[in-house]
Amino acid sequence: MRILTISAEVTPFAKAGGLGDVAASLPKAWEELGHESIVVIPKYGHIDCEKHSIQPTDIIVAVPIGTWTEYARLWIGTLPDSGVKVYLLQNSDYFDREGIYGNPDGFTDNDRRFIFLARAAFETARTLGFKPDIIHAHDNHTALAMPMLKINYANDSFLNEAAGVFTIHNMVYQGLYDSQKAIQFMGLHRRHFFKGSWFEQYGALNSLKAGIMFSDKVTTVSPTYAHEVRWTKSGENLQDSLHARASDLIGVLNGVDYTEWDSKTDKLIYENYSAKTIERKEYNKQHLLADFGLNTREISDGLPLVGMVTRLTPQKGIDLLERGLDHFLKNNLMRVVLLGSGESRYEDVLRSLAKKYPRRALVQIGYNNTLSHKITAASDFFLVPSRFEPCGLTQMYALKYGTIPIVRSTGGLADTVMEYDAGTGYGTGFLFQQFSAAEFRTAIGRAISHYRIKPHWDIIRNNAMTQNFSSLISAQNYINVFHWALEKVRS
Ligand code: ADP
Repeated sequence: MRILTISAEVTPFAKAGGLGDVAASLPKAWEELGHESIVVIPKYGHIDCEKHSIQPTDIIVAVPIGTWTEYARLWIGTLPDSGVKVYLLQNSDYFDREGIYGNPDGFTDNDRRFIFLARAAFETARTLGFKPDIIHAHDNHTALAMPMLKINYANDSFLNEAAGVFTIHNMVYQGLYDSQKAIQFMGLHRRHFFKGSWFEQYGALNSLKAGIMFSDKVTTVSPTYAHEVRWTKSGENLQDSLHARASDLIGVLNGVDYTEWDSKTDKLIYENYSAKTIERKEYNKQHLLADFGLNTREISDGLPLVGMVTRLTPQKGIDLLERGLDHFLKNNLMRVVLLGSGESRYEDVLRSLAKKYPRRALVQIGYNNTLSHKITAASDFFLVPSRFEPCGLTQMYALKYGTIPIVRSTGGLADTVMEYDAGTGYGTGFLFQQFSAAEFRTAIGRAISHYRIKPHWDIIRNNAMTQNFSSLISAQNYINVFHWALEKVRS
């Protein structure tokens, strides 16, 4: 099968969150499964082309925007440990600036930037002679590729046999644009936009809604989230659209690229280890604590280390941290190591914890991939107390490192972490149901009561490390969805 992936992020070139990881791990896994895929992303100003061996080509792609034509020069890179080609669109007006989205408020020309990306991806495929079976778009940024396929390319014999599959990584971000401008940039007639049309919500052009409505199949990144978006507030006011597409909607659990995230082979951690050599995990903890400036007595004081790596947004449950952790930090029952960047009010929460407990709350504000691997390997437990979580990758990474997740039972967290049952020895972590500091505290209490208690500590870590959330499984599930989509288009 030939798959064109259109994404605003792909790891390691440009990543803001899990989207980048998945947009990379899926094409790599498809290649292993014998499928051909290319990825198209923007060439953002911050991408380190030298580091990633990204080269310019002589290929210029003509991109119809509105009634005129714009241009992108193609640059080419290869995803690490694979032969998957990534084509990066160079257009300095749109992409040659710091950042991907211009968060927190977004760049004012995101409508034009992302319409350009989607349209240019089709034209890149044509220019390269890559006739796709599947156009796979991710999240609101590239969602408008779905209506483009059905409207702009309806009579284009090179592209119109492809099926459009749209994957929702997060319902919160919807890509709301001024309708007149966006419809014009897409090169569509004004009659396509009216109240109740597949583009419209509350008077604006809603990219996410258009992606949901115009695609052949819609996926969410976990089965539980597929249910939640239809039946709970997680639908973010698009429940009706999702109900309308219910028979074409399915949850496909994200997978992990174990070439990047495996304690046995990870080049970014202090010491590799497996389930059989788990005692070596301790070195990772000692080194990390030393790097954070703790002294020898503190490094060997035997406190459980609880890690967390996250974007700092309302989704991630940062509001629970202060009241959830205070009891344990105050009474010297554990140490936390927190890495995050995002909204300043949440950065302040982390800073104030560090100020209150300088020897027990170790905090780094910022985005740091190497440190995220080190924290995952060094910690005994890993926190993901999200308000909602479409899938979540960090808890799956943690499992592979024998780092026991403490998570809220929502979305993909509920699909990937199973409460440890001391009676049966089944389970891989500790969960709480309600989004409350009290329930969070109880789950932490349950978790640390198992810390180093034999035989439970050995059993739970072994259970965790033998879980398999490989991206190969996820990739095969997507291939099944792609066949299903093609049946619809080609029947
Ligand atoms: P989301 O996509 O909502 O951010 P996920 O758990 O799906 O959540 O993916 C987050 C990804 O981003 C993981 O690979 C995680 O390690 C990484 N990440 C998040 N924040 C940071 C940070 N401050 N530094 C390094 N990596 C981070």
